[in-house]
Amino acid sequence: MTFPSVRSRLLLPVSLCLFLTLAIGSSTRATIQYTVGLEHPEKHLFHVTMVIPGVTGEVTVRMAAWNALYQVRDFSSRVQQVEAVAGSEKALVEKVDKQTWRIKGTGTIKISYAVYWDEAGPFASQLNSEHAFINPAMILFYVPLRREEDVSLSVIFSSSTWSAQGPLWTSLFVSGPNHADMFTAPSYDALADGPIEVGKIERFELPGVTPAVTVVIHGDNWSKKRVEEDLKRICIYELKLMEGAPFEHYMFILHFGKGAGGGGMEHMNSTAISAYSDEYLPGLAAHEFFHLWNVKRIRPATLEPVDDTKEQFTRSLWFAEGVTNTYGSFTLVRSGIWSKEQFYADLGEQITELEGRPANRWQSAEQSSLDAWFEKYPLYNQPEYSVSYYTKGQVLGNLLDILIRDRTGNEKSLDDVLRSMNTTFAKTGESYRDSLDVQLTTESVAGESFQEFFRKYVAGTEPFPYQPILGLAGLTLRTVEHRKPALGFFLEHEPNGPFVVGAVDSEGAAAQAGLRAGDVIVNWNGAEAPRRVERWLQEQKAGELLKLRVRREDKEMTIEFRLGEIKETFYQVVEDSHAGEKARHIREGMLRGETSAVLVH
Ligand SMILES: [Zn+2]
Repeated sequence: MTFPSVRSRLLLPVSLCLFLTLAIGSSTRATIQYTVGLEHPEKHLFHVTMVIPGVTGEVTVRMAAWNALYQVRDFSSRVQQVEAVAGSEKALVEKVDKQTWRIKGTGTIKISYAVYWDEAGPFASQLNSEHAFINPAMILFYVPLRREEDVSLSVIFSSSTWSAQGPLWTSLFVSGPNHADMFTAPSYDALADGPIEVGKIERFELPGVTPAVTVVIHGDNWSKKRVEEDLKRICIYELKLMEGAPFEHYMFILHFGKGAGGGGMEHMNSTAISAYSDEYLPGLAAHEFFHLWNVKRIRPATLEPVDDTKEQFTRSLWFAEGVTNTYGSFTLVRSGIWSKEQFYADLGEQITELEGRPANRWQSAEQSSLDAWFEKYPLYNQPEYSVSYYTKGQVLGNLLDILIRDRTGNEKSLDDVLRSMNTTFAKTGESYRDSLDVQLTTESVAGESFQEFFRKYVAGTEPFPYQPILGLAGLTLRTVEHRKPALGFFLEHEPNGPFVVGAVDSEGAAAQAGLRAGDVIVNWNGAEAPRRVERWLQEQKAGELLKLRVRREDKEMTIEFRLGEIKETFYQVVEDSHAGEKARHIREGMLRGETSAVLVH
């Protein structure tokens, strides 16, 4: 996935990739049948019925606690009105725990309930007057003991549902009123990994890409020419890099526009991506498409089998997400979407982001992976508490690529590690043992030990030796220092709520003046608090007075203090004009995705 957050990560959503794993048809062979009603979208309630045949005595059903993000979000808290019938008799429904129900009965049990969703983006589901986007795991119960059985799903909506929106499209490629479209899937898990888009959609195939890649778009702020050209370059490059497609048909579900946010979510044969406009698509799409291999098929053992009832801990996200970011940037420069200057600028920004976080000194790439489940807590995302496995992993990927090229005289690269893991693990259905198998594969490609590298920089927190490694690729790391005013506290804002003081820097002037976390801002220098505080700060100078009127436990008070100052270090990656022949070969090889033997003088 890719998150668009304070860390400028990519968050990725899910789409209707059902059509790869699910055959469209009228088959009623499926054992467990779901129907999802989309009537009255203004109420944002998905009406679900689940028919379970062959029940003896009782059946237990459950809803996933997490999906699409490494965050327990308790989808069952959105469920209402669970009822069941056994044959024609009302059946007893008993809640067992927060996400599990037990229904008494024998024969065919029919369960009905409603689920509320109105959240934009690939990590959620949404039913509103514009469209329906469904991550099936967020709305469907499953039978824990029968999740391997084949299933069917029908989506029902009437001609009036989106009648004002123009033609109706579903990702089933059917339009028209009063129809029920049926998907079948070989298991609940296959169904859960296929998001569904229904509503006013545009759809086209990418020309010149084989196997077929379909694009489904909801929203505005995009041009077909640009979307087509960027996605085509990305797909063609990555399919060549990984020596062929692991799918028969792939789908991009894209949500563009103001309310779309940003981010992407990978699925087995599709992705769902949200972006403000098509300008932001390439970075998201290059990352998500590469997930077809890295994470969806090259699977860490710690994420298998998936346990959607509680947190599932893995140390591998620095590779699964971070190195996928490395390949996102490799793809953009190698396919010509980025210039090499843009590639260097991005790498410099990643290093700046990483080194700007105090937590980089004590949180390893593996620990950041393990603690992914904390990302739902805003404090954890602050620079003092965590680094991103996206950022740290992306930089590690770049360093590994240069080292492998250097050790092999530019005959091998990180590309060979990914291809080897694809052959050894993905194609045999085996999962890899987190960092250990990444290390062993790197060693077998490079022909020497990487034990110390993994111990110091992947499991450990030793400072990255940027200059010695970048120098091997004819690159130099420059530092530029800036001073800027500092608030001394974080400002938090709930949608439609007041501005509230978040964490306060205990050493800063705000803390010394008595400001506390939780104080509600009543006014800010006599006016409303700035909506974009970073932009406001850019217009201030250190030492200027900030006068806050705050409310604390029903009392109002005025707190004033002078803005502090912080020093920021920016890193820039630039070419070394004195680089030797071998280093220049490595640099060109990395930028072009090529290997060729270098004569070492
Ligand atoms: Zn990702």
